[in-house]
Amino acid sequence: MEITVVDERDGYFHLIGSPKALACETFAATAWTRFQDIPALESSGLKFIQGSVSSVDFGAKVAHILDTQSQSSRSKPYDYLIASSGLRRVFPTVPQSLRRNEFLEEANRHMKEVQTAQEGVVVVGGGAVGVEMAAELKLLDPTQKVTLIHSRKRLLSSEPLPDDFAERVDSVLHEGGVEVILGQRVVNTTAVDMKDEQRRHSRCIPTSTYLAREALNEDGYVKVHSSLQFSGGVLNPEHHYAVGDIAAWSGIKRCGGAMHMGHFAATNIHQHMLATCGAGKPSFVTLQPFPSIMGLALGKKTVSYSPIDGTRDGEDIMASMFGGDMGNTVCWNYMRLGEACPA
Ligand SMILES: Cc1cc2nc3c(=O)[nH]c(=O)nc-3n(C[C@H](O)[C@H](O)[C@H](O)COP(=O)(O)OP(=O)(O)OC[C@H]3O[C@@H](n4cnc5c(N)ncnc54)[C@H](O)[C@@H]3O)c2cc1C
Repeated sequence: MEITVVDERDGYFHLIGSPKALACETFAATAWTRFQDIPALESSGLKFIQGSVSSVDFGAKVAHILDTQSQSSRSKPYDYLIASSGLRRVFPTVPQSLRRNEFLEEANRHMKEVQTAQEGVVVVGGGAVGVEMAAELKLLDPTQKVTLIHSRKRLLSSEPLPDDFAERVDSVLHEGGVEVILGQRVVNTTAVDMKDEQRRHSRCIPTSTYLAREALNEDGYVKVHSSLQFSGGVLNPEHHYAVGDIAAWSGIKRCGGAMHMGHFAATNIHQHMLATCGAGKPSFVTLQPFPSIMGLALGKKTVSYSPIDGTRDGEDIMASMFGGDMGNTVCWNYMRLGEACPA
């Protein structure tokens, strides 16, 4: 069986670790692994194309790709397609580089700017990324003044999480030396001594522009059945699957859910293949609604919430959820990326 992975990046970027990767040189080096260096992708049947999928023909089952190297368009016929391209996010939520070596330079530049900041660092927006970024910056350079400004009266105001979780996050930030200002909106910024002033809005949007409108909901997420097959009015839906952040599914978008969906989509494609070969009706695994769960790495501590355990915080929770490397090893091992595939 031939499997082709198409990605704009030349490798797997451990997105969870993004705030730390952009603040810590040693961590940055481990956060991005080129696809060619991942043992699980070394199988002879697996090909990698560095490029951007620009459109998909559901009827003909052909993906059109803009190849990054050659800047030329190419077409890739397929039997099954899995859309797993996530959300489009801006810097400094995620690096904008597409190659590992450029990413290391980008992270380095960002670190130097933060280290040499004369007036301190202001993080605008107290969502999950903002609070993690503020805590990480303060941990790495305790002498630097770090201020987090959030327009609402409560941190994490757009997350479906209880007030005591947001309050605990606030107090752990204070403990770590971050100044938190709530209920105030930043109306303007003046760049001090910056050559290239740029203002970016941090709203993240689905990357689904390469898919037909009828496949998407009003916010641009792919409509799926619990089998992860496309549920919108597209041709050949049983050959098209969506997983991860791009899929319209309940709960907070998390990597645990994304990996779980990937596993289910692969299982269901295999079931469909067996059925096509005459093995009877496919026995699909079906996804349950995801509960609202969150774990935030705030410097040395994690603040977590789940409907079963409620709100908790501590260094021990940090160790159990993220290990010593922001969950990089946990995710790597879960996806078995270190294990070579049988030929
Ligand atoms: C800063 C931050 C911290 C987070 N912390 C946590 C956490 O602590 N715990 C947790 O569970 N979750 C966390 N998350 C969420 C988690 O990272 C995401 O839910 C998860 O990465 C989603 O995986 P994905 O494969 O759907 O998308 P992504 O990881 O975004 O991967 C999508 C890939 O698709 C590629 N791509 C995009 N468009 C195209 C295209 N047109 N053609 C080809 N390739 C394309 C991109 O280059 C990228 O490599 C965090 C997210 C962020 C941003």
